Parts: sequence; structure tokens; C-alpha cells
Amino acid sequence: IQVHPFEFKPFIRQAIQLAEISIPDDIQVLFKICDDELIVQADTTQLQQIIMNLFNNARDALIEKSDAQKTISLTVSSYKPDSAFKQRFTCLTSDKMVHLTVADNGCGIPAEHINKVTEPFFTTKGVGKGTGLGLSMVYSSIRSLGGILDITSTVGEGTVFHIYLPTIKSDA
Ligand code: ADP
Ligand code: MG
Repeated sequence: IQVHPFEFKPFIRQAIQLAEISIPDDIQVLFKICDDELIVQADTTQLQQIIMNLFNNARDALIEKSDAQKTISLTVSSYKPDSAFKQRFTCLTSDKMVHLTVADNGCGIPAEHINKVTEPFFTTKGVGKGTGLGLSMVYSSIRSLGGILDITSTVGEGTVFHIYLPTIKSDA
């Protein structure tokens, strides 16, 4: 693992292109990236794996959706934590964060599973299909970077993964 500062937006554009390779053509991949310069301190390989995992899970969540409106959408914006956010996530270390969301309009996660999905080996996929390790890796990587993972989901409507990572000031 090699943690170093880099510009987040060019990285994420490239990460989307790589992650899209495993996404079938009937799923529309949309993204909206803000204009601010954002520099994060992270390992690019690890972040790439996070995006891959979230995209592959979104693809799996869309598999049984029959209509032609299958979408994975990604957003990037800067975020200044407010007091409610700080109260909710007391582990917060930074006052300026990048907020990355990866959303799908797939099957959703039942309320009774939402706290379990980041546990190692939790999977609802069949034997030989899911390892249940993707989100536990996503969670621990984000935590090790001082970031936060928050998941919101509605069964039958879809799921949003919110990732918050601390940003650092550029030297410029
Ligand atoms: P795996 O994909 O191998 O099952 P993960 O750790 O990546 O393991 O995900 C764990 C479980 O969380 C999945 O089996 C699934 O039940 C649920 N899950 C993850 N992402 C999504 C999603 N985007 N939509 C619905 N359920 C999801
Ligand atoms: Mg997975």
C-alpha cells in the first residue's frame, strides 16, 4: 500500500473507465464531477479496487431489473462537514472532505442487512458467486484513510454508497 497525495478528479475519471469494462452495455453509467480541485492522500490501487467493487455490486443489484432504465451514477463534490455530521461521525478528522457517491437503481438492501454488508463473508449471492469480502475491504480501506462510508438504501428503489475522504491543501 502506497499512500501519496494526488488529484482526485483525473484519477476518478480514469477509475470509472476501468470499472466500466465489467459493466454490461444495458447499464447506463452516469457521472457528475464538480469543478473544485481536490487532493486526497490515498493509495490509488486501493481506491481503484473500491470503485470496482462498488460498480460490480451495483451491476449485480441490477441483474433482475427488467426495464431499460438500469443506471449506475457517480458524483464527486467537496464537502464541509456540518455539526450534525460531526456528531454522527465522531471519528471525523478533517474539515474539508471529498464526497463521492456511487448509486444504483437496483434491488436495494433490506434494513436488516444494512449493518451486516460490510462484515467479512456476508453475502446474499449464491455459493461460488459472492465472497462477501468486497464491502469489508471497501470499509476497512476507507477507514484506514480517515474516511467514512455511509450506505443508504431502499428495497426496490436502489442504493447509495457515500464515501467521504479527507482532502489536503495543494502546495500551489
Ligand atoms: P459479494 O458481492 O461477494 O456478495 P460484498 O461484500 O461486495 O460481497 O457485498 C455483500 C452483500 O451486500 C451482497 O451480497 C449484497 O447482498 C449486498 N450489496 C452490496 N452492494 C449492493 C448493492 N449495490 N445493492 C444491493 N445489495 C448490495
Ligand atoms: Mg461484491
